[in-house]
Amino acid sequence: MVEVDWTALPGRLVVLSGASGSGKSTLVRRLLEKAGPGVRRSVSATTRPPRPGETHGEDYYFLDPDAFEGLRGDLLESAEVHGFCYGTPAEPVRQALAKGVCIVLVIDVQGGLQVREKVPNALLIFIRTPSADVLERRLRARGTDDEATIARRLNNARREIEIARDYDVNLVNDDLETCVDELAATLEAHHCGG
Ligand code: 5GP
Repeated sequence: MVEVDWTALPGRLVVLSGASGSGKSTLVRRLLEKAGPGVRRSVSATTRPPRPGETHGEDYYFLDPDAFEGLRGDLLESAEVHGFCYGTPAEPVRQALAKGVCIVLVIDVQGGLQVREKVPNALLIFIRTPSADVLERRLRARGTDDEATIARRLNNARREIEIARDYDVNLVNDDLETCVDELAATLEAHHCGG
């Protein structure tokens, strides 16, 4: 991949991380509806199989491990999460930022820290649940994971919260609409997508 000076591009890169169950997918969907065309979400590649209702090219690019490995050199960041590989294809992000569009990466904290290295002016936002109990309840309510998966996700959540101390902004998703408003206000305050 050609070296890119990410900080010289007019669009702002925003990283949004949070434990699974923190509601970040819903938050981002609401944020994008509210923000208009100046803010867009990047589509990641993953080796995780699709869940019911997920669409290739919209939710993720669902790839087999070989295809993912073939893409490695073209990724802005990548990480292994819950036993699967995830990564952000760099070129679509670069093109959008070059047009002045604000791009939101909904990625885990390992990826967030890689972005911080490569793109020092990226804005890193972490979404918390009000407490670990609430997170556990939300994961169970979702009904998509078995006990072992829930235990692994809760452990990851604790580790992620530690790393999130280095993020620029921490928001608590107690009430969805309030958190969407806070997120939109945070982006505006940092001149994203305006
Ligand atoms: P899920 O499989 O539940 O959609 O996502 C699992 C975790 O992987 C979430 O924390 C999600 O934010 C993270 N994730 C999704 N795409 C990427 C990516 O491109 N890079 C990294 N580092 N993490 C990702």
